[in-house]
Amino acid sequence: MPDLKEYLTKKGFVPLQIGDAELTELTCRIQLGAGRTKILDELRSVDDTFAPDYQVPGAPRLTGTALQMLRSHEQKVEETGKTFDLYDRLCAEEFDQIQSGLKGEFESQGGLQHYQNSRPLFFAIGIVDPPSLLNKIKFDFKFLDRVTVVGGGQPELRDVLLKAGTLIDQKFGVLAPALKLAIAETFKKAGAANVPVIGGWSPRGVVKGGRVTWLGPHFPGYAIDINAANNPNLTTKAPAIDAVLDSLHFDPQLRVAKGLLEWTFLEKHPDQAEAIADAMWKQLTAISVKLSKFVHDNLADYKKPASNDKPDFKDKRKLLDGLKAAFGGEAGLVALSKDGIIDLGAVLTSVLIVAGMRWGGEWQGMDVMHFELRNWKEKFTPPKCLVELQRQQARAASRATPQSKGP
Ligand SMILES: [Zn+2]
Repeated sequence: MPDLKEYLTKKGFVPLQIGDAELTELTCRIQLGAGRTKILDELRSVDDTFAPDYQVPGAPRLTGTALQMLRSHEQKVEETGKTFDLYDRLCAEEFDQIQSGLKGEFESQGGLQHYQNSRPLFFAIGIVDPPSLLNKIKFDFKFLDRVTVVGGGQPELRDVLLKAGTLIDQKFGVLAPALKLAIAETFKKAGAANVPVIGGWSPRGVVKGGRVTWLGPHFPGYAIDINAANNPNLTTKAPAIDAVLDSLHFDPQLRVAKGLLEWTFLEKHPDQAEAIADAMWKQLTAISVKLSKFVHDNLADYKKPASNDKPDFKDKRKLLDGLKAAFGGEAGLVALSKDGIIDLGAVLTSVLIVAGMRWGGEWQGMDVMHFELRNWKEKFTPPKCLVELQRQQARAASRATPQSKGP
């Protein structure tokens, strides 16, 4: 079902007190996640303008126009409530349409409730009919003919991964099969059963403060994560890592918090993808080596009691404390000293980027495991009503801010 307003018509619901423009705005706001209580409260507060004291015992009875206005307003409140009821039904119907392979994952996140909570995030970027998009997802296809992409992804994602495999064939000829095998072997490290896997579609979204606040590219099926354990997302770890790099006077251009590339660089210069991919891989690997060596060289002293510290070790201890907290304790430090923060090969990174992926390693905070289809969001157009709402809000905000007076 494409849109709530159309759905209302389909269900034979004709509001008498909500005009067409108003209904467009209401259905838009509902689909963007506005709460029932909030909207009904807004309407009820308008009651007071019609009849400030009509509910107070002993107040004069309303008559004539005032009574009519109040009644029509009450009817509007009722119709608005009904619109919300029908939205709930729309969500339930849509949720039923989601293919069974995805359903299980949804169920583990809270089922229909999770669907309804995340639907506004789809709507806001222009996916007005999430089940149709989700049902295009292909399951558990294989990368390099060997590595299962768990959860699968959109056909475009599968095509890009196929293209990456073809690029290896073209570049390495007779050596390609052995190289692909070697790459697939590296994916085994993270798999519990030692089966090579990549993480693909997942209905998780990006959670902040217990709520899904941004869809992210995994939810609609445009991203993969490679060996999460050995290629961590560094966003929250960035300050601890960068503090070490600062102390070592490492190339000031290379910092995790800063990222490696302007966000849209490869969109503007796709012809430079190979050279850029190579450079980025080298830069992140250089950071990894520097960091790993720092931990390796200082770990033995760090494990000794702090009271034995030589004066020049105090600063290092502080840096290691930071890393220890960021990487989940001493085991994390040991792993860091051995493996660093990236185990993706240069060839793998390069073919994925050249084939059309954006690498999480390139952006601020660096999500090393993550690759997503470049321009996946540009496939969609935000709904007109959202654009109109934003315009209204901007107008309201500019009215609220006093203009500076002219001369
Ligand atoms: Zn990811």
